[in-house]
Amino acid sequence: RHYLIEAAPLPAKAEAGAWLMVYDITEQTLAEQVRKDFVANASHELRTPLTLINGYIETLQSGLIKDETAMRRCLDVMEKHGKRIIRIIEDMLTISRLENGSSALNLEPFTARSCVQDALDHLSPMLEGRDTRIQLDFPPDGGQMVGDRFYWDQLFTNLLENAIKENPNPGLILKVTGQWFADHCLLTVADNGIGIAAHDLPFVFKRFFRGHKHHSPEIKGTGLGLSIVRRTVEAHGGTIDLTSTPGVETTFRIRVPLAATSLG
Ligand code: ADP
Repeated sequence: RHYLIEAAPLPAKAEAGAWLMVYDITEQTLAEQVRKDFVANASHELRTPLTLINGYIETLQSGLIKDETAMRRCLDVMEKHGKRIIRIIEDMLTISRLENGSSALNLEPFTARSCVQDALDHLSPMLEGRDTRIQLDFPPDGGQMVGDRFYWDQLFTNLLENAIKENPNPGLILKVTGQWFADHCLLTVADNGIGIAAHDLPFVFKRFFRGHKHHSPEIKGTGLGLSIVRRTVEAHGGTIDLTSTPGVETTFRIRVPLAATSLG
């Protein structure tokens, strides 16, 4: 823990001595550290694509590239890095909005099944040509929820996108379930992909954390997806955890109280 100690003399008429004040500033110190890390990581993540774009601009300005195909390739790469910068900034804005808690939410009724279906439709280009088995298991009414649909769509998209891209298996299995209880619902998203090593588990919800293999540019992502997922669940009063057996499966479990999201 972190403490701040302040000493002050006693008023003149009092007996000799001094006030000693001890403040527990652990929470502030940790919050400040999280903020500093966020700024440092965000700057680093944005600087990399910006530096690359500047490099390409300089190359084009030098006039050394005359061939139209090569010029077009440079522009395509610049566009890709530009899009990455926009995605990082959009993700950061989403996190900062969600950090305001439920006040950031626009509550409306919808079904969990429709959200999952929309996310799968959105991700269908990633599934093209892959042997995919999708199992959806929801109550007959589709699983009634009240929440901010925009964020729930994004939550299922983030979880399913990870499940697809972290899965090199020819046979891809995606399983999404929803169970409704008296006061909460339990949503699970599972895949049969590469899984997450035990030493990475404590970090996956941290901003900008990416599995180490991902420093290669082929697998897209900002490292903010699961932070947004966790913030979304927390803004709706819920909790999220996961279990993973590397090489076998990964399951995310979300519990959301029904009362907290009631329009009531
Ligand atoms: P991103 O996907 O942009 O890298 P995320 O915050 O969504 O960032 O995920 C953080 C990391 O957690 C990923 O880089 C990956 O290593 C790991 N991860 C997330 N979901 C899965 C999954 N379903 N299977 C295996 N690893 C996963």
